[in-house]
Amino acid sequence: MADPLFRTPKGTHDVLPEDHVYMTFIKKAVRHRARQAGYKRIDTPMFEYRGIFERGIGAHTDIVEKELFVVGSPHAEKADQDFALRPEFTAGICRSYIEHAMDQLPQPVELYAIGQCFRHDRPQKGRYRQFHQFDFEIIGLKDPSLDAQMIHVLSNILADLKILDRLTLQINNIGVAENRKAFAEALKEYFIGKERHLPELDRKRLQTSPLRLLDSKEEDTRILLKNAPTLAQFVGDDSKLYHATVLEYLQELGVPFVENAGLVRGLDYYTQTVFEYWDRSEGAQNAVGGGGRYDALIELLGGKPTPGVGFACGMERIVWHMKEAGIQAPNKDQVDIFVAQLGPEAKKQCLRLIATLRDRGVHTLGALGEASLKSQMRLADRFDVKYCLLLGKMEVLKNTVILRDMKAGKQKEMPFDEALPAVVELIGKKNLDRYVLKDGFGAVDED
Ligand code: AMP
Repeated sequence: MADPLFRTPKGTHDVLPEDHVYMTFIKKAVRHRARQAGYKRIDTPMFEYRGIFERGIGAHTDIVEKELFVVGSPHAEKADQDFALRPEFTAGICRSYIEHAMDQLPQPVELYAIGQCFRHDRPQKGRYRQFHQFDFEIIGLKDPSLDAQMIHVLSNILADLKILDRLTLQINNIGVAENRKAFAEALKEYFIGKERHLPELDRKRLQTSPLRLLDSKEEDTRILLKNAPTLAQFVGDDSKLYHATVLEYLQELGVPFVENAGLVRGLDYYTQTVFEYWDRSEGAQNAVGGGGRYDALIELLGGKPTPGVGFACGMERIVWHMKEAGIQAPNKDQVDIFVAQLGPEAKKQCLRLIATLRDRGVHTLGALGEASLKSQMRLADRFDVKYCLLLGKMEVLKNTVILRDMKAGKQKEMPFDEALPAVVELIGKKNLDRYVLKDGFGAVDED
């Protein structure tokens, strides 16, 4: 057993090359759909002043109260704990919108981000302490059509990744702050005399953030809630109309949904529209992604009142669904050709040949060690290459090279100068064009 000090910390994992194939594919779908809809990429720091999260997400939410990774310098004169690793993107992006006066840009500002988030959660299946999200935000304009269009972008991404049919869109409208305040009062009143039946945590929540009781997993709380006032009773007519219009637009766009009056989401900043994509098979609340409208957030962070709507998706959970559904992500890391050689002269020629093949877009490996040709061929097999070029002492003398089809087990000898065009022909122009750097790296995957 390895020393536990030298393993990944609890709740973290290495993204191994086989998983990067999926991650790359997801990012590609995200970028593709983002560009189609005019979203621009933004990166915010992985850590922010912790006040951004405490104020934005809410001091009494699980994410802030229990899961925030607080960081600071132990070397500072007075050890500080001023910062926190981002548990999500929205608060940081809104901070950035204000800091860079993006209200001066044409509105709405549509932004997307891809990267790691951190929550000091209890690790379990699909729940990590470091995980990847992609995140979309529309800030600066409010209209039900924006909520619906944004959900449509998300559903298109999930469809591109071939997991949409495993999920259902749950949607609700939780009204505006006054509605929720009135509901919270009513809920507190309802629980007068019943508090002692509530589990301790929920008793505390009743005081700090009563709405959180609605998604409590505690049996006792759930039973007590059956006769309690419902949030829907307090949602104002404006919000109801807004909700109906969002649903109408979703229908117009052909996005199926399930109305779910119990969906509140665990963050304080939401107003009106909230939604999540749930795993259909488990029926459990194992969300792949979720979001909603946050019209009060920018003001909370010191900006002027500015509406916003956004969502985030967990990439590890998407990878899990893709694997469960047997979906293969295209692997561009496949090695096309292996160059094997023997002797100092052959080695020099091969060095040049390998470099030229790579420039042309052929994925090329070469064993430039001193192993025998036979062991180099075995290596080529293990790399699962389609073709091999062999250059031994004899071939150097004759100025030829051997091209071997590894799957067919056939080979032919040809003049050395013909090797490059022959390989290019075999790999095919379509494949090569994908890999070659053109016009400022256009054909290469971005991070
Ligand atoms: P949330 O805003 O908390 O609903 O998070 C949005 C999405 O991020 C969720 O639907 C998950 O897919 C993903 N997510 C949130 N927390 C975690 C976690 N601890 N580990 C992995 N994925 C997570």
